Amino acid sequence: MVDNLLQLTPRGLYCELGGFYVDPYEPVERAIVTHAHSDHARPGCRKYLAALPSQHLLRLRLTEEAEFTFVDYGQSLDVGGVKVSFHPAGHILGSAQVRLEYRGRVEVVSGDYKLESDLTCKAWEPVVCHRLISECTFGLPVFRWPDSAVIAGEINQWWRAAAEEGKCCLLYGYAVGKSQRLLSLLDVSIGPIYTHGAVEKACQAYRVSGVSLPDTEYVGAVERRDTWAGALVLAVPSAHGTSWTRRFGNCTTAMASGWMMIRGTRRRRSMDRGFVISDHVDWPSLLRAITASRAESIWLMHGYTVAVARYLRELGKDALALGQRTFDGSEDAEYLT
Ligand SMILES: [Zn+2]
Ligand SMILES: [Zn+2]
Repeated sequence: MVDNLLQLTPRGLYCELGGFYVDPYEPVERAIVTHAHSDHARPGCRKYLAALPSQHLLRLRLTEEAEFTFVDYGQSLDVGGVKVSFHPAGHILGSAQVRLEYRGRVEVVSGDYKLESDLTCKAWEPVVCHRLISECTFGLPVFRWPDSAVIAGEINQWWRAAAEEGKCCLLYGYAVGKSQRLLSLLDVSIGPIYTHGAVEKACQAYRVSGVSLPDTEYVGAVERRDTWAGALVLAVPSAHGTSWTRRFGNCTTAMASGWMMIRGTRRRRSMDRGFVISDHVDWPSLLRAITASRAESIWLMHGYTVAVARYLRELGKDALALGQRTFDGSEDAEYLT
């Protein structure tokens, strides 16, 4: 039996047998993409293969001429003799774990994933394999997500209190995935919901894909509004502190991210509030997912790879860190997710 279906190259995870990359860092001939976030779906490849529910989000990201093939979750496709299939990762709409099988050997690339409930995408499913290549963005014991229903309650309470004081709420989160999950948790009886352009575009892709979301209005389409009091605006974090926010007058700001777990991160971004809500696995879920995969070999990517690999080796597992985080994450590409 072959004992390696994938290898890490400077262009990303490569499957020589099948002649494709998974989430390549650079343009390649044939890319398999786990999901539509920019650090996984890079433009410029000639052929893309991805899970069917990700198609509208991916086309938003990759507008150029390329050949797209989409397969539904659980269905397989032969790519150069390698059996490829996609399985729900629970991270954002269409996010997938990629399962590769060749002559009895099975390897799974997790992409980004979470085990918590999310009304806007299909729930994560365990996939049994010989080797799991897992992300570990929040792979430290300090990261333990509170119940998202509790966080939803806090967000709505914050909004309700601001509305009563005649303020506008600016809620910052990543445009694709995070904003739609937040939207699904909001109590629409409190007031109207507006969106930043990037958020609105992603919301449209979700709606076209059949995900029902509360009504939103794009801020740029509002002709004239005398007061934004009581409204909630979903915006991208890069808009924070810019002139774009001036129109809202008296407002309160909050950031929704797993990084809000770390004391001081919120203050560094000068937000009034921070809500701990992430679309990645926390520490207990990461360990649960690794156990559920029954993998005898675990490779770690994206995040605290060295710490997680060391921990797993202490448990007697075969674990390898591919790359490592050198920073506490606050300016990392994954900061917002
Ligand atoms: Zn992601
Ligand atoms: Zn990612």
